[in-house]
Amino acid sequence: MIIENAMIVSNVEIAIGIWQMTLLAPEVSSHYKGPGQFINILSADSWEHPVRRPMSIANVNGENINIIYKIFGNVTQQLSQKVPGDSLNILGPLGNVFTGWKTKRTVLLGGGVGLAPILNLYESCPNSTLIIGARTADEHFMEHEPGKNIFLTTDDGSLGVAGNVLTVLENLDFNDQIIIYACGPKPMLKAIQHFAAKNSVKAQLSVESYMGCGLGLCQGCVIERQNEQMKKHSYHEKYTLVCMDGPVYWSNEVCFG
Ligand SMILES: Cc1cc2nc3c(=O)[nH]c(=O)nc-3n(C[C@H](O)[C@H](O)[C@H](O)COP(=O)(O)OP(=O)(O)OC[C@H]3O[C@@H](n4cnc5c(N)ncnc54)[C@H](O)[C@@H]3O)c2cc1C
Repeated sequence: MIIENAMIVSNVEIAIGIWQMTLLAPEVSSHYKGPGQFINILSADSWEHPVRRPMSIANVNGENINIIYKIFGNVTQQLSQKVPGDSLNILGPLGNVFTGWKTKRTVLLGGGVGLAPILNLYESCPNSTLIIGARTADEHFMEHEPGKNIFLTTDDGSLGVAGNVLTVLENLDFNDQIIIYACGPKPMLKAIQHFAAKNSVKAQLSVESYMGCGLGLCQGCVIERQNEQMKKHSYHEKYTLVCMDGPVYWSNEVCFG
């Protein structure tokens, strides 16, 4: 992994509160392994926000890295004020990648800030069924095109299917040959985990837990493993670090509490 001062090429609001930033990062992009990986961003060279913020890689195009981010707090607000020519210190590429998508019929689900890795994977498997959820129409920047297997959902019914990504998933004509890939808020991942277990379907989930260093040092991103075979009550058998072991897990590997 690399630390690099990346230059901002563009930074555009693509939906209400959702931004896309392109970074020129020749070193980090040259080590990129695939959809699922992320970078850890230092927004300013000061003590104001000393902890990096993780952002999934939405796309790598030559030496350029794209991220898609939603404004949540101070750092994402700061990011939205950056202009082309500014630089950002980034650490990456970090984390593992989605696997197995070349051999199965794939269903891709993204919700909230979990869009980026899912859209990245969709570029690699465009024949997938794509289901993207948001609270309201303003937060979407794609078209609802059921004929092309692209489904948008909104909590308030203002665009696409009223409901959430599960509303579409549960009504799909699927068989046990599908494989699900998902990223989004914890309740969404928990519901997909439940769906996968109930229907004996495989699912890989990209987990966006709180994170600090991205290097396994601070232990800030720990989540619990599902481990029925645990012989000893050891820390490493019971817990996993999202930054080092993830962020992508099989749905039956982890617990969401
Ligand atoms: C591996 C990974 C990949 C990620 N990829 C993306 C991405 O592609 N795009 C994107 O917009 N965000 C992504 N995130 C989440 C992103 O890192 C946080 O939104 C960001 O750190 C918020 O920083 P902030 O200073 O703006 O907000 P903060 O002030 O840190 O947080 C404001 C509020 O946002 C919520 N929040 C912050 N971080 C998280 C989190 N990790 N999970 C759930 N809620 C949170 C909390 O309610 C918090 O009170 C990712 C997180 C991880 C771990």
